[in-house]
Amino acid sequence: MQLFSFLSLLIVLSFYNNALAFDIKQAAPVQAPIAQAQPKAAAVNIDALPLSMTLKKTAVQQGQYFEVDITGAEKNPLVWFNSESFLAFKVGDKAYKALVPVENLTKPGSYVILARTGGWEERIPVKVLDNRKPIQYIYLDPDKSSLEATNKEINEISSAFRLKTEEKYAQGKFSYPSTAVKSSPFGVKRSYNKAPVDSYHKGLDFAGKMGSPVFAPADGKVALTGLEKDGFQVHGNTILIDHGHALSSIYLHLSKIDVKKGDMVTKGQKIGEVGHTGISTGPHLHWGTYLYGTSVDPELFVKGD
Ligand SMILES: [Zn+2]
Repeated sequence: MQLFSFLSLLIVLSFYNNALAFDIKQAAPVQAPIAQAQPKAAAVNIDALPLSMTLKKTAVQQGQYFEVDITGAEKNPLVWFNSESFLAFKVGDKAYKALVPVENLTKPGSYVILARTGGWEERIPVKVLDNRKPIQYIYLDPDKSSLEATNKEINEISSAFRLKTEEKYAQGKFSYPSTAVKSSPFGVKRSYNKAPVDSYHKGLDFAGKMGSPVFAPADGKVALTGLEKDGFQVHGNTILIDHGHALSSIYLHLSKIDVKKGDMVTKGQKIGEVGHTGISTGPHLHWGTYLYGTSVDPELFVKGD
């Protein structure tokens, strides 16, 4: 029963991956980044205000993120990694920060983080390390591959993940959204029917009982609620919270939703209840955390560095 439940969940996540895959390649590649006109740097006295980039770590694992700080900038710099660009957010006077996600299936090896604003740019070599998450080899009955996310759930979730809110709602470390035991960690890689690994578990699961409370792990603004009966047939009853600065979190398979889109929520506030709506055969909470729409390990925000 538990295995069946798990397999069903895998199917959900498989479609989830596919549904959002198109969202990842929007940015122009690093090789040709100056597509749009760049503002003139003439007004800035570079000598008086030296621009510089620092990284908290220059090597992180798959499914983690690079913490990039840029000082001396007059406007939000763009940070590039692995052919994607990320808008850095203002965190102080001429100070900007970006948490640059490393997708869980990024090939381990050497990369470059590049930051650019006006006429300035800086590159720092970085490494992506294999997180050595186990690979699950899944064999699916072809009949079961008919389960599909609706356009409504795909589109609404995708657009919520594109939010780049300048206000940072979440402060400090996250708390867990459930007091139940964890049942499945983030990042376990999957191979379906002997094909190469192409998906992974994009969240952390809690084996919460039906109706047990789900709490906001940090302050934020409800960016989306979706109901199974209104077309969220794969994700089930869903809440997505925008924590600001391109960090968001998602809660799936809920039995009850206590908040609505636009509500401000505070850390520890009850937002809903555990259920098994959508493609899920047993009650559990799936909790995902995303940076710029890319799934990263929720434990990073609870435990910190
Ligand atoms: Zn899950």
